Amino acid sequence: MSEVQLLPRVREFLAGPLGSFVDGQYQVEPEAQAFEVVNPSDAEVIARVAEASEALIQRAVAAAHASFHGSWGATSPYARGVALNRLADLIEANSEELAQLESVSSGKSIHLSRHLELAQSVVFLRYFAGWATKINGETMTPSLPSMHGEQYTAFTRREAVGVVAGITPWNFSLMIGVWKIASALTCGCTIVIKPSEFTPLSLLRVAELAVQAGIPAGTLNVVNGRGRVGQQLIDHPQVRKVSFTGSVPTGVAVGKAAMNANLTRVTLELGGKNPAALLADIDVEAAVEGILPATFTHQGQICAAPERLYVHRSKLQAVCDALKARLTGLRAGNALDESAQFGPLANKTHYEKILGCFSTAQARQQVLCGARALPGPGYFVEPTLLLAQGADDPFLKDEHFGPILCILPFDDDEELVRLMNDSPFGLGASLWTNDLSKALRLIPRIEAGTLWVNMHTFLDPAVPFGGMKGSGVGREFGSAFIEDYTELKSVMIRF
Ligand code: NAP
Repeated sequence: MSEVQLLPRVREFLAGPLGSFVDGQYQVEPEAQAFEVVNPSDAEVIARVAEASEALIQRAVAAAHASFHGSWGATSPYARGVALNRLADLIEANSEELAQLESVSSGKSIHLSRHLELAQSVVFLRYFAGWATKINGETMTPSLPSMHGEQYTAFTRREAVGVVAGITPWNFSLMIGVWKIASALTCGCTIVIKPSEFTPLSLLRVAELAVQAGIPAGTLNVVNGRGRVGQQLIDHPQVRKVSFTGSVPTGVAVGKAAMNANLTRVTLELGGKNPAALLADIDVEAAVEGILPATFTHQGQICAAPERLYVHRSKLQAVCDALKARLTGLRAGNALDESAQFGPLANKTHYEKILGCFSTAQARQQVLCGARALPGPGYFVEPTLLLAQGADDPFLKDEHFGPILCILPFDDDEELVRLMNDSPFGLGASLWTNDLSKALRLIPRIEAGTLWVNMHTFLDPAVPFGGMKGSGVGREFGSAFIEDYTELKSVMIRF
């Protein structure tokens, strides 16, 4: 075992006092209720964070509004891009500290915090920074009739919507926060962001680094607390857009609240029940090698991770044997233990939900391996494989957002398409095959916002990401995000 020791500045930061970050400064209201941050690796309380009062939320939105109409609004696109690149440099320079904060609050392995959460946040931030100078409208020639020789021209402008409320989940709290911050700021918007109550720490440091990067005070604010804080942000009349990532039920409530508030525009990045399909021609070892990290990285707590695995009947036994052999005996350990192969679930509520799923699976006698809690005190469970009892098996229906993969055989392509689309969700899906011609014929028939071939759960800043059907509204990344963070203004001129 080689356990990473917390940096002295991480210890200092955890000792607090901690609360929110508003108008360029840490804010800890003396009267505020504090909530506890628990390390899922050992169930110990590691920090206490003051919950933002309604008055502080008002101040955060007021600061964001003032910056939008003041210093950030007056910052040129080029200077916005430079500032975001400086923030990326500072995140990179402080990445070990931020990775440790992520790992102790979310249970994410330190490798994953370093090499995915932090490294990718920097990559995404630099990508978004490049867009700052490329957000343009179009010119067009109207076809209005000319009676007396007059002429017309028209153009569109992309104008930043204003103050954005960002609401983020606990699974990749820093990276998902950075996606929202970068999208908003590169378009010229300002933002107030509410992290999950389980992971309220790392975005506070990012907000502090933003000020060091020269981003004016008030442009990026973080208000901490439970769902109420998110609700009050959505209801605020000066919030012009809500960007939410989280579960389907909360997302539906957020979408309704945003419509009720002020017809506030909203993007919803929600959950999924993502299918992966192993076609008859696969190389079993290679496919299993790809499916395992896609499914079980961060203990399966990744929105696009496969939870349904459809395997051509001719390969069912070989795939089950290979998956079982690889999953049995993985060494679980503390998120800071560099040699651990599997970490804890992110919080007690989620751990108890997954234990409930295990009891159901045990009672239904469908466990191929795993489905047990591991000795505590942290929230450790075994990675789990289940064999579905038909297409209507409940383990093929509800999102579990944990280390549970449910397998069902299929016989032909028509059945496969039916099975893959048999879900109210449509976030991601994957096909595993060497038959490219077959894959290209199947792609248009599968209902998913992202479809991977011979890979799964890879995100790239240049490739739009978001859900079809019940998995969400809107797209992040690529150029697609620009539409959501800007208003399109049309200008017509007679001359
Ligand atoms: P969640 O329970 O829906 O919470 C998400 C955020 O919403 C948290 O900050 C939460 O605060 C806040 N919230 C709760 N009630 C609210 C309300 N009434 N109004 C406004 N905000 C409210 O989701 P989670 O458990 O954190 O995250 C797991 C889910 O996120 C999974 O379903 C996963 O698939 C999804 N997810 C989707 C994507 C994607 O890109 N599509 C990415 C990652 C995760 P508290 O935590 O303080 O309650």
